[in-house]
Amino acid sequence: MNNVVEEIADLRRQINDHDYRYYVLNAPIVADVEYDTLLKRLRDLEAGHPHLITPDSPTQRVSGQPAEGFAEYIHKRPMLSLDNSYSIDDLRGWAKRCEKLAGGRYFDYVAELKIDGLSISLIYENGVLAQGVTRGDGVRGEAVTQNVRTIRSIPLRVKEEGEQEKTNEWEQKQCSLFENEAAAESSREIEVRGEVYLPHESFQQMNRERTDQGQPPYANPRNAASGTMRQLDPNIVAERKLDIFCYQLFFAGNEAFPTHAESLQWMERAGFKVNPHRRICQTIDELIAFCNEWETKRNELNYETDGIVIKVNQTAVREEIGATSKSPRWAIAYKFPARQISTKLIDVIYQVGRTGAITPVAVFEPVLLAGTTVVRASLHNADEIRRLGVRLNDYVFIEKSGEIIPQVVQVITERRTGEEQEIVFPTHCPECQTELIKPEGEAVTRCPKFDCPAKVRERILYFASRRAMRIEGLGEALVQQLTTPRPRRDKKSDLLPSDEGEQEGILPPLVQDVTDLYHLAEKRGELIELERMGEKSADKLLEQIETSKQAGLARLLHGLDIRHVGERTAQVLANYFGSIDKLAAASVEELSNVYEIGTIMAVAIREWFDTERHQHLIARLKKAGVQMEITRAEGEAQTPRIFEGKQFVLTGTLPTMKRDDAKAFIEARGGRVNSSVSKKTDFVVAGEEAGSKLARAQELGIPVLDEPRLLALGQATS
Ligand code: NAD
Repeated sequence: MNNVVEEIADLRRQINDHDYRYYVLNAPIVADVEYDTLLKRLRDLEAGHPHLITPDSPTQRVSGQPAEGFAEYIHKRPMLSLDNSYSIDDLRGWAKRCEKLAGGRYFDYVAELKIDGLSISLIYENGVLAQGVTRGDGVRGEAVTQNVRTIRSIPLRVKEEGEQEKTNEWEQKQCSLFENEAAAESSREIEVRGEVYLPHESFQQMNRERTDQGQPPYANPRNAASGTMRQLDPNIVAERKLDIFCYQLFFAGNEAFPTHAESLQWMERAGFKVNPHRRICQTIDELIAFCNEWETKRNELNYETDGIVIKVNQTAVREEIGATSKSPRWAIAYKFPARQISTKLIDVIYQVGRTGAITPVAVFEPVLLAGTTVVRASLHNADEIRRLGVRLNDYVFIEKSGEIIPQVVQVITERRTGEEQEIVFPTHCPECQTELIKPEGEAVTRCPKFDCPAKVRERILYFASRRAMRIEGLGEALVQQLTTPRPRRDKKSDLLPSDEGEQEGILPPLVQDVTDLYHLAEKRGELIELERMGEKSADKLLEQIETSKQAGLARLLHGLDIRHVGERTAQVLANYFGSIDKLAAASVEELSNVYEIGTIMAVAIREWFDTERHQHLIARLKKAGVQMEITRAEGEAQTPRIFEGKQFVLTGTLPTMKRDDAKAFIEARGGRVNSSVSKKTDFVVAGEEAGSKLARAQELGIPVLDEPRLLALGQATS
């Protein structure tokens, strides 16, 4: 029992400390999931030992507290928090409870994005913005009116009758409240609540400025928004481009629209910014579909959302269901998997890339984040290490935002113990010990040695990759084996005695550059000898290598790793010149006349072919039988470039073509596919459920094609 008492006390102490750091200092030292885990543990313990619950337990109140420096404001209606759910099962359980509490009355739900910012209450008197208040501890907030007034999307005056369209009698009555001088003072007041947030772009800009000024960056946009709102100087707030989405409306006399959806619409018409991504759902399955949809689509937004808020739509049913002291029972937040967590940096290793670039890679104490265990993350370069100010043994926040690759976003300096050590960037290549160079003006440090073993390995891997020569089975481990010198094996003694001299005991690697791949067949015996390589896998590999000879000119050009020549440029060059000899003979001028090849690229291509080492490489590949001219398959695919220079945008679902197919169809004909519609767009290809892009095209008078018309246009002259 004592243990439980102690654990509860310890959890409360920790949670209170985290609350203070989070809500007052805007500088948390653990990630939200870690905080939530502590809170959940406390809640579970209290549930098992209800007599230990005290009114001041963090489970019993809305977290947060007003900061000093602003006038206190007592909320007319408490600003509650939301209950969280982390699984679909939790959601189903909540919906069941709502049904039970609703006692058989009909209701549906509204699902909205949960904006990750800070809640603000806006008080309008006689239609004019009078107060802007933070949530504080839910009862007492901070009056941050001057700061709120700097947010452009917050109307200083509610749109009046005549300015806004009203759809029903009830609304007309509400609007007239603002006009009727005789109306009671209280009935002229409205309160609008919303979430103030910082768009990603403004957040990044702000953190760049902070690091330039030697201040620590904010860990996430929410802390940044919250820190900004507590600035005492409204001029600073104005610079930071905060924004808002409003989600709740109260009239002073407690009149309310019959549904939440209607009140959101009213707010929109009255000039408030309401998030457009919301849906009325009849069933829990529809809600789940909405949650799943936004779990991935959230990456497309320019602001952070950490979940979906689900609310009972009908006001009367909400009243029936009621609220606890902390949160309403008629609403719940479905939280998306966390993207941020804290962990300890235990090592930094240095990787050498294909071009010799040295990448420092952070090694962490393993942590589970968004479904995978994270052990490493790139630190990019020496400048980034300096920017972050990170040291060995530091605790850091790591984040997986949108993409799968984790990033170090912030050092948690408050968790330093004195055990931290400066990270010393190497001066010599970790692979070949050559002195590293850092070209002026570049962030990257490089190993200059051409045949540095790491660079050799990476070049081979790149050449064999799926997008280049596509040699299946030639992965990292095998390339490592193929490019490593081998001990000479003696049938009797296994290893030749080493005192016969290093060189005699060692055989050169089987592969030293990509051309050696095409001579591996001659060394089949030695290949089979490699560890984990039997006859079967050796033959499979040799077959793959043989097939790759016919990969085609475009793939070969891509695999050769000419500076600035990626997959698409390789294709353009192959189509235009048709053979490597013609390309090798082209002047810079000729090259830059090719559509999409700029001068920088043209010079890089010319330089590549002028390098003796590369001329040998081509000669040896040719000798080995690698296809150096456009193949018949490629030639057939070489459709007339009738969309040359035309810009396309795809939107909606096409009846038969997948989006990638439509993109390939356009690109094969020389067109370009962009993601957003602008004045430069020539055609918009629209399918079913085409959204704002179609509207924009119509607005700009850009021709819109459906799938049959696209196909007809693409084939008409081919
Ligand atoms: P919350 O942020 O989880 O949810 C409630 C809030 O959601 C509301 O107050 C409102 O501001 C907001 N919201 C956004 N969109 C909304 C919408 N469409 N409709 C209604 N409300 C909407 O709850 P909270 O109590 O503000 O904060 C708890 C959060 O803060 C948790 O995620 C917790 O992990 C984090 N926290 C972290 C630390 C830390 O040290 N890392 C400390 C304290 C709290």
